[in-house]
Amino acid sequence: LLEELVERDLLLPTGVPGVYGRGAEFETALLAFDALVTRETQRDGAEVVRFPPVLPRRHLETSGYLSSFPHLAGSIFSFTGSEGEAVELGARAARHADWSDLQTATAVTLAPAACYPVYPWAAAAGQLPATGRVVDVCAYCFRHEPSEDPARMQSFRMRELVRIAAPDVVTDWHRSWVERGGEILGSVGLHTDVAPANDPFFGRTGKMLAANQRDQGLKLERVITIAGDRPTAIMSINYHQDHFGLDFGIRTADGEVAHTACFGFGLERVALALFATHGLDSSAWPPSVRERLRLDGG
Ligand code: AMP
Ligand code: ZN
Repeated sequence: LLEELVERDLLLPTGVPGVYGRGAEFETALLAFDALVTRETQRDGAEVVRFPPVLPRRHLETSGYLSSFPHLAGSIFSFTGSEGEAVELGARAARHADWSDLQTATAVTLAPAACYPVYPWAAAAGQLPATGRVVDVCAYCFRHEPSEDPARMQSFRMRELVRIAAPDVVTDWHRSWVERGGEILGSVGLHTDVAPANDPFFGRTGKMLAANQRDQGLKLERVITIAGDRPTAIMSINYHQDHFGLDFGIRTADGEVAHTACFGFGLERVALALFATHGLDSSAWPPSVRERLRLDGG
């Protein structure tokens, strides 16, 4: 599939596995699905906010990400040295030698998921309104997982909705989106299955965390075959329980620790699934799919 996608200029390789430019036809399909999500979720009264693809380092630390996923995190380093060191840095870079020891950590890291900036922001706003909050976010996310699988990118967009409220409200919301997400995907001809899932926690303790998450049904995915014969998750629905509420100190109107859940469409994966399912020429997609995505305008 990757070769065909590159051949047709849908994905533009950069020389680094999992890092691509997006051709016009690919990007048009991706943004059309993104707009469909907007139309479908408008009635949920979500607060629409956008954060940049970088996250204050402190927030990544507070969330425990570096303990759970040290292998996926990306941190931003920069140069603060002397003129002499700058000369050295430039010289090493010119011959592609290692210059990493001449840089130091900045206050920011790359965002590993679109929803991460939401929790500290919601906490800073003080107690939640009585019905809690629904927040709509979308951002480029980074994960250090280089791969030749076109569906496993290092830099990709996640369109997420985040629910922050009392536990019973959040569990109902989490459950309802398993079906609603499937309906949205089905409406563009992507017929997915629901699969219990777990995050790729690091190491031996990570295995236990993953098994626990799976047993409790905290993470569910909508999966479809994109390339090869293993199904790929194009949507994830996560219930974090009180994890972020405790980490960041988010309180409900009653003063209890808030629970949170989020669901996210992986926009590149949805676009890839559309091309894999309906063909690499989007002008020949079924009229009903083109209409639903408003690819002919309107
Ligand atoms: P996760 O937070 O791992 O559940 O990811 C949320 C969604 O982002 C998944 O359902 C995928 O659709 C998408 N996603 C996750 N990892 C990648 C990746 N490496 N490349 C492209 N999309 C991804
Ligand atoms: Zn999320």
